[in-house]
Amino acid sequence: MKKSVIVIGAGIAGLAAAIRLSAQGYQVTVFESNPTVGGKVSWIKQDGYQWGLGASLLTFPELVDELFELCGKRPSDYYEYIRLDPITKYFYEDGTTLNAYADKNKLAGEIAEKTKEKKETVLSYLQYLHEIFDLTEHTFLRKSLHRWNTYLTQNAADIFFTNPMKMGLFRTIHKKNESVFKDKRIVQLFDRYATYNGSNPYKAPSVLNIIAHPEFNRGGYIMKDGMPSITQNLYKLAQEMGVVFHLNTTVDEIVVQHKKAVGVKVAGAVYRADTIVCNMDINFAYSKLLSHHKEPVRYTRQEKSTSVIIFYWGMKKKFPQLDVHNILFSSDYEQEFRAISRGEISKDPTVYIFVSSKVNPDHAAPDGENWFTLINVPHDSGQDWEAYVEKYRHIMTEKINRLIGEDIRPYISTEVVNHPQKIREVTQSYMGALYGNSSNKVMSSFLRHPNFSSDIKDLYFCGGSVHPGGGVPVCLLSAKITADLIQSDNEKRKQHKSLPAAT
Ligand SMILES: Cc1cc2nc3c(=O)[nH]c(=O)nc-3n(C[C@H](O)[C@H](O)[C@H](O)COP(=O)(O)OP(=O)(O)OC[C@H]3O[C@@H](n4cnc5c(N)ncnc54)[C@H](O)[C@@H]3O)c2cc1C
Repeated sequence: MKKSVIVIGAGIAGLAAAIRLSAQGYQVTVFESNPTVGGKVSWIKQDGYQWGLGASLLTFPELVDELFELCGKRPSDYYEYIRLDPITKYFYEDGTTLNAYADKNKLAGEIAEKTKEKKETVLSYLQYLHEIFDLTEHTFLRKSLHRWNTYLTQNAADIFFTNPMKMGLFRTIHKKNESVFKDKRIVQLFDRYATYNGSNPYKAPSVLNIIAHPEFNRGGYIMKDGMPSITQNLYKLAQEMGVVFHLNTTVDEIVVQHKKAVGVKVAGAVYRADTIVCNMDINFAYSKLLSHHKEPVRYTRQEKSTSVIIFYWGMKKKFPQLDVHNILFSSDYEQEFRAISRGEISKDPTVYIFVSSKVNPDHAAPDGENWFTLINVPHDSGQDWEAYVEKYRHIMTEKINRLIGEDIRPYISTEVVNHPQKIREVTQSYMGALYGNSSNKVMSSFLRHPNFSSDIKDLYFCGGSVHPGGGVPVCLLSAKITADLIQSDNEKRKQHKSLPAAT
């Protein structure tokens, strides 16, 4: 008989884990609280406009393809993704606009033309990112950091013997970028990548500069049918593989007997399985589903990542000044992050505008655009978010008007708003943090919860709040690490059982 697995949560990592485990021969059942799958990668629709709730930029699309190929399917039968060029358009308060082209030479040329930087400086920095990424990827992104055998590899030895200064352990993202670039605008451009995992460039270690590597050295992509088409298609694939889904169904408890996870409790009924995989945010998993068990506070009490306020605006006009991804930088980035560290929002936050209807006009009403307009804000610690929304609707529109040279207010025909409290409610993310723990400390990678429980047998974890962290590609890797651990743990047990008994 097939071994059974229950997955709690159909976020992108829960879906990917379900697919991998079903391809490995397990009978998989998924419970999801919401009426639809996808968590932070799902749709918001209103008045003929649609927006992805969260994730907007795709890197490493091959990690999505891999799931389909694993199941013997052709990705192109399900979806199409497009390589963006330029990837992002940058706007500065001094009037500079800069296109981050996909081609490295063209990008370096653009930077050299519009700022004080030399083309060679940009190219050699991108090469440095490439090297550090290649060095760290295998151990830090593809393996559990909480199993000894991870450290018994040549790659781990290579990392260990690499100069810690070169690795970027002893200075911050900002300090490293400031040591490479003379022009403040370019320092700010590369500092921005700290926000991709909810961190602060003035605190996070410079090894995290590698977050910029995929976009600049491998390419930034957009799903033609929108980012949520990833989770929609994973849902389809999982069903084709025989995974059973219970939507609108919240798991209330992980049932543990004799230190082994044996099932889940849903509205008083117990569903049993050989293995449980939890895709729920780790803090809530301990407080809500494992309330009778000891919380591993060394992981759960870490500083949480940032969150966002997003205005999803239906615009009844097209704006040629904008590209698909646009960053309207603040004039004082350090001040912006100082405010976030205090639990506040600066007077002049950086505004990100994502317009997927520039690639797929179906995402907006005719002749209109779907603007996903975001600022980074602190995680929720009881702030008055409704008051912030009122205040920042005004501040953000003023900034946009100033930098794109047009009053946008008459063209906002419909609006949906998200803020940390709402994000917490919809995706059950602790404090509304987008990426679980922040990565503001050198040891942060080791302070993410492991992909398994050390105390409860057959209980595993995947998703943005556990190792290796948040973001679509990283969550997909988290699902892979988890599925690989389940497979190898079960194989070890089988081998152990088949050994002849000692006489
Ligand atoms: C605004 C925003 C912008 C982002 N931008 C990007 C980007 O551009 N690129 C990128 O790569 N990443 C981005 N991210 C991050 C990325 O979207 C997330 O890291 C990733 O989607 C998290 O996936 P997850 O698997 O951890 O689960 P989540 O998406 O957090 O989903 C967890 C699911 O579990 C369900 N659940 C929880 N508890 C229970 C329970 N007890 N019973 C049943 N179901 C339960 C929830 O309902 C939810 O559906 C962004 C995120 C946000 C919010």
